[in-house]
Amino acid sequence: MWALSGARLSDGSAADVVVDGERVARVGAGAAAGVPEVLDCSERLVLPAFVDGHVHLDKVFIRDELREHDGTLRGAIQAIHERKRRYSVEDVRARARAVIEESVRQGTTRLRSHVDVDTIGKLVPLEGVLAAAADCADIAEVQTIAFPQEGLLRDPGAHELMEAALELGAHVVGGMPHWEADEAAQREHVRLCFDLAQRFDRDVDMHVDETDDGGVRTLEMVADEALKRGYTGRVTAGHVCSLAAADEEYAKRVIDKCAQAGISIAANPVTNLVLQGRGDRGLIRRGTTRIAELRAAGVNVLFGQDCVKDGFYPFGRGSMVEVALISAHAAHLTTHDDIAYALRAITEAPAQAMRLSDYGLAPGMRADLTVMTSGSWEEALRLQLPPESVWFKGRLVAENSVTSVLYH
Ligand SMILES: [Zn+2]
Repeated sequence: MWALSGARLSDGSAADVVVDGERVARVGAGAAAGVPEVLDCSERLVLPAFVDGHVHLDKVFIRDELREHDGTLRGAIQAIHERKRRYSVEDVRARARAVIEESVRQGTTRLRSHVDVDTIGKLVPLEGVLAAAADCADIAEVQTIAFPQEGLLRDPGAHELMEAALELGAHVVGGMPHWEADEAAQREHVRLCFDLAQRFDRDVDMHVDETDDGGVRTLEMVADEALKRGYTGRVTAGHVCSLAAADEEYAKRVIDKCAQAGISIAANPVTNLVLQGRGDRGLIRRGTTRIAELRAAGVNVLFGQDCVKDGFYPFGRGSMVEVALISAHAAHLTTHDDIAYALRAITEAPAQAMRLSDYGLAPGMRADLTVMTSGSWEEALRLQLPPESVWFKGRLVAENSVTSVLYH
């Protein structure tokens, strides 16, 4: 048994955090009394370790090997095809592992990764990411989503590969209905994904409406299907960009359905700020979903890293604190309440979407902790310093120190 003493919690209060084995035993003032090993954390912020609920580990770090494209989602998907054909398990494994390790250094110990499943790469990306997850099982926990990036109806054979991916160990059923050719095919795509999810008893986490076109409305298909099948609280919709461009009546209706179905929304402003709105002149759309309205309706919204130096996005370093800062800019999050909401979007919100039952800084929860040198979340977000220490299942897994000297 050991403890962090005098730490600041996200609400500003001071407390000791006592850890017993892999679990948090106690949290509170004076809780460390009598504990043999105590680390002084005065004026440091202790948070549950961050959760990246939406990332693509199979694609990370391929950017410099791709031909240049027009910067759009379609351009990126096409530019990746050639590289995807040349993926090997070891290649994917090494790149995915590097980002898992970097994420841990930056305070993230749980990740949910989409992994392409299609007739181009077949199951190679999944095998690579599963191998990387196994390599890193001592420092992080990675869920995988079988993601039919090239569509299901558009890519004959992808459905069989999805079944094989779930048999191989993919945890969650992915999807990308708006990529299909027409509305009937989109609806069929959604139906097929839910069929797979029910058959394998898996949750659903789809890419939904990652387009500027407000007329694209697969979110409602997903919400209707979730409600029809009683899949409440088991579905996440990612990106959902077109909702920002949709009319008010549709937006209100579909947001209500999302709330009713307990659908989580994975907003990825970091990537969508640079991918979307490229056809606009003058007033350029931001590509970010209706975070304020979703929040007001009580829908669970998380922020994801989405991409690290791939064909879609040239930046990213596995830092959820950076993701929160960029997302705060995109979503106008500036009041104290808003900034607390940005923390929720990289901690409890993704934990809820991933249905992690042992997440949080409370007795009985898993001791995945991040200690920040800043004394408050607002300062941690503003200053963007790496965590001082990171703990996974009660074990120290990363430490960072930053030195700065001013010669006045
Ligand atoms: Zn994505």
